[in-house]
Amino acid sequence: MNKKLFVVSGSSGVGKGTVLKEFLKRNPDFMLSISCTTRTPRDGEVDGVNYFFISKDEFKNCIEGDKFLEWAEFAGNFYGTKKKFINQCLEEGKNIILEIDTQGALKVKKQMPEAVLIFICPPSLEALENRLRGRHTEDEETIRKRLNVVKEELERAQNFDYKIVNDSIDNAVSELENVVLGEQKNA
Ligand code: 5GP
Repeated sequence: MNKKLFVVSGSSGVGKGTVLKEFLKRNPDFMLSISCTTRTPRDGEVDGVNYFFISKDEFKNCIEGDKFLEWAEFAGNFYGTKKKFINQCLEEGKNIILEIDTQGALKVKKQMPEAVLIFICPPSLEALENRLRGRHTEDEETIRKRLNVVKEELERAQNFDYKIVNDSIDNAVSELENVVLGEQKNA
């Protein structure tokens, strides 16, 4: 049976990773998709588990061979979702979640209109701004750049199917469960 594909995006700093980690703990029959990337593995990251770590040449060949459902450049590295990986998972009836950026998410929707896009947002721009300023770790220029990126992402999120406000991890995880399990029931 083919399952629905779920795509979760959110600006960095909103706790998207924590929400997803908790969701997967509570719903062990779900798995995260494994993307390809050209960035070097961080400590503890394993090839084929966290990412498929490939060279820029291999990545370029995959683009030319139309192997990606979507791909994007992020902070000087390339990230992409292989069509074959996703199709195989869906055919095997796996419950799969893609954790990718907002541009990638919209590209997936164009090719697979049945995919469900979920955006995790900060409680408010002011709250995020206060948090960034409160940390005193970034200068004004960096803060403004990050806020602009967040604004762009919030604009793209207008085209998402669901928005979940991360005011508390527990609430956000429950909302994510409602969306995902509800969508599956209607599939
Ligand atoms: P990181 O290098 O921290 O693992 O990921 C950086 C960013 O790339 C995150 O925002 C993550 O969601 C995004 N990302 C990871 N895999 C993919 C992918 O396959 N496609 C796209 N478009 N973004 C990805």
